[in-house]
Amino acid sequence: MIIVLKPGTTEREIEHIVKRIREMNLTPHMVRGTERTVIAVIGDERDLQRHPLAALPGVEEALPILSPYKLVSREFKKETTVVDVDGIKIGGNKVVVMAGPCSVENQERLTSIAQEVKAGGALILRGGAFKPRTSPYSFQGLGEEGLEYLSEAKRKTGLLIVTEIMDPRDMPLMMKHADIIQIGARNMQNFRLLAEVGSYSKPVMLKRGLSATIKEFLLSAEYILAAGNHQVILCERGIRSFETATRNTLDLSAVPLIKQISHLPIIVDPSHAVGRTDLVVPMAKAAIAAGADGLIIEVHSNPEEAYCDGEQALLPTTFKTLMSQLKRVAAAVDREI
Ligand code: PEP
Ligand code: MN
Repeated sequence: MIIVLKPGTTEREIEHIVKRIREMNLTPHMVRGTERTVIAVIGDERDLQRHPLAALPGVEEALPILSPYKLVSREFKKETTVVDVDGIKIGGNKVVVMAGPCSVENQERLTSIAQEVKAGGALILRGGAFKPRTSPYSFQGLGEEGLEYLSEAKRKTGLLIVTEIMDPRDMPLMMKHADIIQIGARNMQNFRLLAEVGSYSKPVMLKRGLSATIKEFLLSAEYILAAGNHQVILCERGIRSFETATRNTLDLSAVPLIKQISHLPIIVDPSHAVGRTDLVVPMAKAAIAAGADGLIIEVHSNPEEAYCDGEQALLPTTFKTLMSQLKRVAAAVDREI
């Protein structure tokens, strides 16, 4: 249910409405817009039918939210959300590029890749310290040591850090080292993890699950918002299809479609989508043309020796060339990069 307040509703009236909502064991989520304040009421709405809120002073109308996802929907919030990551705005006019290795390998290599991607124009450094690997015998990441290396690379370059969480118990470490917490494709429906990151105020990047529909993807984002954290960036990273020529199938139409139904910013990961360096470059351009708010790209100084995903990592020189080409694509769709 969305409660639309009358212009000029007083704080006392708002307090009274919020009190009534809580008395019904429902949770109010308030959005104070430039013109109007709206309150989304989340929870079991059966009580609401018995005690209509439309009658309370200050309420203009009470509308049901028809979509299954409430807080992430444009019905709830018309203006696009701009996630502010320490001054870097994701969802505004500027397209934000995150780049770096698949996994953190050692301090020296990470810092040198960080310097290269920064020189190319990336604003955020990616690198996994906890790696969700298909095989238990593959490199699992350096864990806390990897996070320390990321913090050091941040100190040296000024780049902000995006890194993946796999276990809710690692939240304190993430609060210390990450600027954006990544939830990977494999954990998109790890609902306890979603609720845990939702209970902090740190920005979250939620990747689409390998076989998740757009509805399931947005409902996973809903878990994070429902827990109180509205700083969510969605990431389309390709989905499983019958096609085996590419690692996944990049569902680019998800970008403009999600922008219609949700106010959350959405970025694209062309690296995991296609899994081949030669296709990362054209799909990165296509993503910007389709309206993506950012990109996350794997870059490695020596892909042959990368601990994982070397076959999809761009060399720093290729990344730099790509970035200069992306400027023109962005300009063509009235964006900056
Ligand atoms: C990653 O970005 O490091 C990653 C593992 O991606 P995904 O979760 O999309 O497979
Ligand atoms: Mn990877």
